[in-house]
Amino acid sequence: MKLSKKQREELKQKFGGRCAYCGCKLSEKGWHADHVEKVGRILEIDQKARAKGVWKLRATGELMNEHLDTFENLFPACAPCNLFKGGFSLEEFRHEIFAQAERARAYSVNFRTAERFGQIQVTPSPVVFWFERYKAKSEAA
Ligand SMILES: [Zn+2]
Repeated sequence: MKLSKKQREELKQKFGGRCAYCGCKLSEKGWHADHVEKVGRILEIDQKARAKGVWKLRATGELMNEHLDTFENLFPACAPCNLFKGGFSLEEFRHEIFAQAERARAYSVNFRTAERFGQIQVTPSPVVFWFERYKAKSEAA
């Protein structure tokens, strides 16, 4: 859905002007309207390109799960969170974030060195999204 300027501002303020996931403060521009539940664009093979021997996909302009393209299903997100979340559901996204430290330990000598010298400490704390903490905070108030 195309947001009006007013709706975009309203969306940005949904969780106190912060990214719904990591909670970083959103800048004036450069943040994304994230579909909490995935709304995908339907792609098809570009027949014009194919006639020229190139395989290419193009968006048909139609959406998968079009019924989820609503204001309620939109969360404000910083670009890194939005790009990392991609097509993940909330729980898949949470699981992927939780797996990051273990992956860094497995693949990065920098990480292992920093950890060995106490520069990094991995905590087994659960991944709690900002919008979950924000909700709890506003309910307690
Ligand atoms: Zn974020």
